[in-house]
Amino acid sequence: MVTLRDESVGSADATGPTVGVLALQGDFREHARVLGELGARVVLVRRPEDVEGIDGLVIPGGESTVMDKLSRAFGVAEPLRRRIAEGLPVYGTCAGLIMIADTLLDAIDGQQNLGGLDVVVRRNAFGSQNQSFETDLEVPALGDEPVRAVFIRGPVVESVGERATPLASLPDGRVVAVEQGDLVGTSFHPEIQGDVRFHEYFLAKVRARVRAGDSSSPSTAA
Ligand code: GLN
Repeated sequence: MVTLRDESVGSADATGPTVGVLALQGDFREHARVLGELGARVVLVRRPEDVEGIDGLVIPGGESTVMDKLSRAFGVAEPLRRRIAEGLPVYGTCAGLIMIADTLLDAIDGQQNLGGLDVVVRRNAFGSQNQSFETDLEVPALGDEPVRAVFIRGPVVESVGERATPLASLPDGRVVAVEQGDLVGTSFHPEIQGDVRFHEYFLAKVRARVRAGDSSSPSTAA
């Protein structure tokens, strides 16, 4: 179920968990649709009060510089930083990966991020000749079937810190998917390819955390 203020769309029999999708800019609707189809209750996150009840958060692709400015202007950056520091599961795709990286290269002047993931990420890392492309990626954590990955002016993970683990690399060795506990980041966009395995992988982390009673959401019962 997707809830936008008092408007609800999507599956009415969603049983949770409650997953926020940062909905300030970018392709948040695609993520909301996939998460809804997988049985999550989806909350579009735009204001500080939207952050309180969520068990996990997806940050979509889009433009990280704009997302950064809007998240500060709308007052959601600080509450999100606090929840991430407390262990909120987060999945960031493309611009979303940039938002949760601890260290950014080729950021614009004054660009801030939420941080949490112990990686160094370079924005727009594929250069003007190769900004957008698709490729099949081996992702052992998701099984034998490769993931068809769509890159759109994507970042790469230039260095993976001690706390993080690579999940997938390009044939040249550049890391394009990582995880660190309940944080997951991909340079590409599974939400537009119809392969829901990354979202399932993330939702399993959210569900495990809710079961363990670690979520600060008071509303996870159906
Ligand atoms: N280049 C964008 C940025 O810096 C990311 C592109 C995307 O999310 N598709 O935020």
